[in-house]
Amino acid sequence: MTNDSIGGEMETRRTTCAIAGAGPAGMMLGMLLARAGVETVVLEKHGDFLRDFRGDTVHASTMRLMGELGLLDAFTKLAHQRIHHLQVTTDDGTYKLMDFRRLPGKFKYITFLPQWDFLDFLLAEAEKYPNFRILRNSEVTGVIEDGERVTGLRYRDAEGERELRADLTVAADGRRSALRETAGLKSRVFGSGMDILWFQLTKKPDDPGGMVGRLSDGQLVVRIERQAHWQVAYTVRKDGYDEVRARGLDWFRENLAELVPFLADRVHEVGSWDDVKVLDVQIDRLDRWWRPGMLCIGDSAHTMSPIMGVGINLALQDAVAAANRIAGPLREGRLTDKHLESVQRRRTLPTVGTQRLQRFLQSRFLEPWVRGEGKSTTPVVLRILKRLPVLQAGPARTMAIGMRPEHPVPALRKPSALPRPTAANGE
Ligand SMILES: Cc1cc2nc3c(=O)[nH]c(=O)nc-3n(C[C@H](O)[C@H](O)[C@H](O)COP(=O)(O)OP(=O)(O)OC[C@H]3O[C@@H](n4cnc5c(N)ncnc54)[C@H](O)[C@@H]3O)c2cc1C
Repeated sequence: MTNDSIGGEMETRRTTCAIAGAGPAGMMLGMLLARAGVETVVLEKHGDFLRDFRGDTVHASTMRLMGELGLLDAFTKLAHQRIHHLQVTTDDGTYKLMDFRRLPGKFKYITFLPQWDFLDFLLAEAEKYPNFRILRNSEVTGVIEDGERVTGLRYRDAEGERELRADLTVAADGRRSALRETAGLKSRVFGSGMDILWFQLTKKPDDPGGMVGRLSDGQLVVRIERQAHWQVAYTVRKDGYDEVRARGLDWFRENLAELVPFLADRVHEVGSWDDVKVLDVQIDRLDRWWRPGMLCIGDSAHTMSPIMGVGINLALQDAVAAANRIAGPLREGRLTDKHLESVQRRRTLPTVGTQRLQRFLQSRFLEPWVRGEGKSTTPVVLRILKRLPVLQAGPARTMAIGMRPEHPVPALRKPSALPRPTAANGE
């Protein structure tokens, strides 16, 4: 990053690629571009990666990606859990919905790893390259434009307002992207009829493990086994949190103990409503993911429903698809709109396909269920999957591998693809 002018109070800096947001999409793209020798700056509004639970799933497609990037050994040294199947307990038994052991390839499980550890891991890899820089506590506030073209971004840090000019500006700043907003990119909002309440409870050594859904009487609870705790999701109808609150904490705890009896001895750990985080479930998608000089990826281009826990993995896949198409052109100063358009074209099928599936599952099964319209009996699909276990491979594959998994081009795979010298690192 170079300071090419210091005028008045505003310091203007310049780089090749400026990425807003150090979430999974921004960190993966930053790391890959750094590997490819592109001068890259990632701006993150927080000082670290420690924040509320935002999903910790690392799917089989991402494990394969780690292998292709030469990072698998280091990745598997991070403390993580492996989940081999997803089960659902109804009032008359437990049914397997997905059996990840039936997946093709080497990775027959999905992994749970704290998102901050994963992001730290990607950052450590990116920082091996002198042409990578992260600016923490730097909140991106908008784009800089020259006619139709985006020529950089504005941000705010402890010292004030700044500008960073870039050949390409990437919005990876999540579902409430300030950058896509100020760039005037329009999204199609599909809405959702449900929200999710998240909270944690202690895990004990004798607890039954894994990832298990509990369906009963218009309610759905999913518990996900983590190292020292249970991450628990309680599904409510849209804006239904107020109704739950109105019933009171005692009701909430007792109801939970009834649904999942082995948690009864610790439901008191939900000590106040501050321990419960509300996920406003949304599904949306930009019509156009780019403008001349700017590209949106991850949640900033398409917010996903939490169904199947695919948001992180799609964000990572977007980053790989983008790096495959833009790294060379960016480094060689020949990036055109066609390259940006090709990223959207490549990622449209998995994004639209996954969102359609999520909308179908929500509107057909989950939303009627949490509105109390479903019959309180075991859904037929669970009975069929129990009778024909081979069919459990289908949902497992849809979740853990998804549509059109990305593979990094050879130049991004080898850590030996060392960065070219840049003016910024003084070589
Ligand atoms: C409660 C919850 C549970 C979830 N559970 C799962 C799950 O189990 N599995 C799954 O796959 N997905 C899950 N998701 C979705 C998942 O978190 C996202 O799909 C995924 O993180 C998207 O990655 P991203 O990099 O596009 O955006 P984000 O992860 O949202 O990252 C955006 C980054 O940009 C930063 N930022 C935002 N605005 C600015 C700004 N103006 N300037 C600078 N930085 C900025 C943010 O601090 C953040 O670090 C969950 C989400 C929530 C909220």
